[in-house]
Amino acid sequence: MYRSHNCGQLRISDIGVETTLSGWVQVSRDFGGLTFVDLRDRYGITQIVFNMDDNQDLCEQARKLGREFVIKVSGQVRERSNKNPNRPTGEIEIEASSLDILNASKVPPFTIEDESDGGDDIRMEYRYLDLRRTPLQQNIRFRSKLALETRKYMDSQDFIEVETPFLIKSTPEGARDFVVPSRMNEGQFYALPQSPQTFKQILMVGGFDKYFQIVKCFRDEDLRADRQPEFTQIDCEMSFVTRDEVLKTFEGLTRHLFQELKGIELGDFPWMSYDDAMAMYGSDKPDLRFGMEFKYLNDALQGHGFGVFDSAETVVGVLAQGIADDYSNKQMKELTSWVQRPQIGAKGLVYVKYQGDGTIKSTVGKFYSDEVLLKVLQDHGAKPGDVLFILCGEEEKTRKQLNELRLEMGRRLGLMKEGDFKPLWVIDFPLLEWDEDSERFHAMHHPFTAPKVEDVDRMLTGDHETMKSLRADAYDLVINGSEIGGGSIRIHDRELQSKNFDLLGFTKEEAQAQFGFLLNAFEYGAPPHGGIAFGFDRLAAVMNGQSSIRDFIAFPKNNQGRDMMIDAPSPIDQTQLDELSIALNVQAE
Ligand code: ASP
Repeated sequence: MYRSHNCGQLRISDIGVETTLSGWVQVSRDFGGLTFVDLRDRYGITQIVFNMDDNQDLCEQARKLGREFVIKVSGQVRERSNKNPNRPTGEIEIEASSLDILNASKVPPFTIEDESDGGDDIRMEYRYLDLRRTPLQQNIRFRSKLALETRKYMDSQDFIEVETPFLIKSTPEGARDFVVPSRMNEGQFYALPQSPQTFKQILMVGGFDKYFQIVKCFRDEDLRADRQPEFTQIDCEMSFVTRDEVLKTFEGLTRHLFQELKGIELGDFPWMSYDDAMAMYGSDKPDLRFGMEFKYLNDALQGHGFGVFDSAETVVGVLAQGIADDYSNKQMKELTSWVQRPQIGAKGLVYVKYQGDGTIKSTVGKFYSDEVLLKVLQDHGAKPGDVLFILCGEEEKTRKQLNELRLEMGRRLGLMKEGDFKPLWVIDFPLLEWDEDSERFHAMHHPFTAPKVEDVDRMLTGDHETMKSLRADAYDLVINGSEIGGGSIRIHDRELQSKNFDLLGFTKEEAQAQFGFLLNAFEYGAPPHGGIAFGFDRLAAVMNGQSSIRDFIAFPKNNQGRDMMIDAPSPIDQTQLDELSIALNVQAE
C-alpha cells in the first residue's frame, strides 16, 4: 500500500494515528539531529520529521533526499510544537518510522513553488514540473469543475451533448484552417474545425432541438498574446428560439457557473447595442466595472479658434475622478507619450484639470476662457479634483484610442476591482463589414448569422449602401471587458443564405461547393435556430480574475504556436511524406 491518507488530510484530531503517506519532497531541512521534510501531493503538504536519536539509519537516509524525490513514509501523527497556521495540516507532523525512496529526481530547473523562478519557455518545456505547482493544480482542477458544472446545467435544460468530427472540409471564411493530408485520397486534405458551426446547425435540421458540446477548435491565426491555436468552446445550439430565449438560457448558465464555482450571485446582465457600446466606450466589449463613459465635446469646444479641434470629426473625452491635484505635469507628459505610442496612435492628449480649489488648468487654456472650460466640466458632471482627458480626430479611430486610455486610467486608478464581475450582453451587431482593401463585404460574425427580422427585406432588395446598415441578430457576452461568448440567430432559409453568400463574394458554384450540404439541408425543413459558443479557457481565466488562458490549459502552446515539451510541430519522415504524396519545396530545418 502506498498511502493510507493524502498529504492534505491529517489534522490535530488524528494525533496518534499510524499513517502512510506518499508524495514529492517539496523541501527538506537538515538540522543535524532532526531532519524535516515537507511532503507534497495534489491535496496539500504535510511535515515529516526524522529523529536521529530514534533511528539513525532512517535519519541518514532522509538527509540524502533531494527536492522532488518521490517517497513513501510511514509513522505516527503527533502535535507540532512549532505550528504553521498557514497550512491546513500545520498543527501536526508525522514522526517517521520508515522511508522508501520510490524514485529519485534530478534537481529541477526551476523551483516548484507558487511563485516559480522559471521563465515561460523553460516551464513549458518541463510542463510536468510546472503542473506540480499549486496555482496550476488549482487552475486545472477549476477547469475540470467548470466542465462538470456546465454539463450539469446543460443537462438540466435538456441539452444533448453530441460530438462532431475533427476531420472536416476546409473553407475560406474566417481564420486560416489547419489542414491534414489524406493518405487514401491523394492530393486531398481535411481541415480541423475552427468551430462546429455548420454541424450544430445540421443537428438542428436533424431534430436534436438542443445541442451542446465542450469541444476543441483550431484556428491557424497569427498568434497574439493569449491566443492559442487550439482552444476549447462550450458550443451550443437551440431550435425554435428567439434571441431573448437564447440570452436567458445562457445568462442562466453563467449564473449557475459563478454560483457553483465561486459562490457569487451575479447582478444584472444589462443589454447594450453595439452602436451604444462603441459610442459610450469605443469598444464592443466594454469593462463595466467602472464608468468613465465618453463625453462628446464637438458642440462645446468647436468654433473657439482652436484649429486642431475645429477640424476634427470628433472631439471626445473621459473624466478621471479625483486626480487633478495629484497628477503632476510629468505624469501628464508620460500619459501623453503613452497615448502617442504606435499601438495607440493618438496625435496628442488634451486635458482640463478641475483643481481642488475650483480653478482650471488646461493644455488648451490659450484658446478657451476658464468660463467656457468650467461650463464644459460642469455640464459633464465633473467635480473639483477631476480631470477631463480629450482626444480628437476621425471618429472611429479616436473612439478606439480613447477606449485604450479609459482602460489604462481604470487600471491606474484601481477601478477594475478583483472579485467584481460585471456581465453585459452586447446586441445588434452590424451584419456585414465593408473591407476597403479587398473591396468586399465580410461577415462580422460568420456567414450563417441572420439579419434582424426587420432587416430581411432590405437585405433581399436593397442596394450596396443599404447592406452596410443591416443589423445582425447576433450577440456577445462580455464580462469585465473580455468577450466570453458570441452567437446569433441563424439563417434557416435557403434563399436568404444564398443571398448572404452572394454578398460575401461567393459565386453560386463556390457557395454550392463549400456549403452545398447546408443549403441542401435548408430545403428539407430546417427549423428556425440559433446558438452561442463560450470561450471555455477564457471563461476559466476571467472567473479567476486572470488574463492568461495559458495557465488554464494543461498543455498549451507558446507564442510561436509550439509545444515546447514534445517539440511540435516537427518535420516528418520522407516515407510519411511519400505516402501522403507530398513533395516539400522547402527543406524543413
Ligand atoms: N461558431 C461561432 C464561433 O465560434 C459561435 C456561434 O455562432 O455559435 O464564434
